Amino acid sequence: MLALLEYLGSKTGETIRTLDELVRIPTQVPPGENYEKIMDLAASKLEELDFKVEKLIMPRDLFERKNPRLTHLVGERVNICATKDTGADKTLLINTHLDVVPASASWSVPPFECTEKDGHIFGRGVADSKGSVAAFFTVLSAIDELDIKPRYNLNIALTTDEEMGPYSGLCYLADLGKLKADYFLSMDGDSDDITIASNGNVDWQIDVFGKSYHSGSSFLGVNAIEKAVPVMNGLLELKAKVERRRSKVPASMAISQNTGIDTLMPVLNITVINGGVKQNIVPDRCTLKGDRRYIPEEKFSDVCKEMNDAISIVKKKHPDIDLKMSCDNIYAPMLTDMNNPWVQEVKRAADEVTDRDMRCSGTQGSLDVAYAVKVTGLPACCFGIGRGMESNAHADDENIRVDDLVMYTKFLGKLICG
Ligand SMILES: [Zn+2]
Repeated sequence: MLALLEYLGSKTGETIRTLDELVRIPTQVPPGENYEKIMDLAASKLEELDFKVEKLIMPRDLFERKNPRLTHLVGERVNICATKDTGADKTLLINTHLDVVPASASWSVPPFECTEKDGHIFGRGVADSKGSVAAFFTVLSAIDELDIKPRYNLNIALTTDEEMGPYSGLCYLADLGKLKADYFLSMDGDSDDITIASNGNVDWQIDVFGKSYHSGSSFLGVNAIEKAVPVMNGLLELKAKVERRRSKVPASMAISQNTGIDTLMPVLNITVINGGVKQNIVPDRCTLKGDRRYIPEEKFSDVCKEMNDAISIVKKKHPDIDLKMSCDNIYAPMLTDMNNPWVQEVKRAADEVTDRDMRCSGTQGSLDVAYAVKVTGLPACCFGIGRGMESNAHADDENIRVDDLVMYTKFLGKLICG
């Protein structure tokens, strides 16, 4: 074991080169048009290490039926499943996604290549979550070169469209029955905590209707934007009520240290507003959109009912408001018992390589991993590379610490080889 960890410590250059290769393939979604390229690269690396690799492309009609709002995305929805029978008793499923969110023009370095600066590596996806894949490849070749027998058979699922959802490549593989294993590690996490839970996510949309007219005689039209104001006020009242609730699941270390919020909490957000054409036209439509993150103790049906009830109250007070509301369940919440032996095993490996007492906590965000857990019933937790308060995942200048990249290779080495 010591030999492996030492060896991994000497392979940082190789890991960074692999990461650079992955970052240079622009897999941002939308549109997600380079999935085949990155999966071919990953497949060739795994085949060289004697993995049996299966390329699984989600059929277009299934993709569009399950993701009716994503029909504009182009390119094949490619995923891979790579397995290796090492002769062990148990099988470990390791997964993460290779798609990334787009990069804005405000980056201080080129987003689609790796830039090393002050002990950090910058590039889109280095934290979320190509860094973990690069580290994993280094570990797999080290195991091969040193001829070490892993403690588990391996089932590796590298997937796409996690950043879009609801029906990602991982969901597809789960439904195909490709995620057979005894334990599940998702590398789609950060290095702050062991993530054992996540919030569910509902996307909601409300269209408020009016009647357009010359603004000079606006009293002859119906102003949809003005009609949307009481609707928003109703939502803000519900927001206050929802956000007083707390889960029993501990919040992430970053959140509790920076905000004093100690457990997962639900949120309701208004995040998009569209309406109006021109100053002198009464707008005939105002569209409000947002999301509602719900804690593992809440249910999708209750979340929708609560939204509907809030809107009914608004309509009772303002019977003249004409609107339509929809709620889409994007991801379910996830919750694994933190005392599950698998979670404790992951924690032990992470504790040793980080020299910390890692917290098992929940993330305010939502994961496609939750779907896979629901289908497979596997004990699952997430641990990855990146820091909640400094890595800028989904923001400009996404970065990771080089030290964390090295730590992560040692974590995987320990976990897989014991
Ligand atoms: Zn991610």
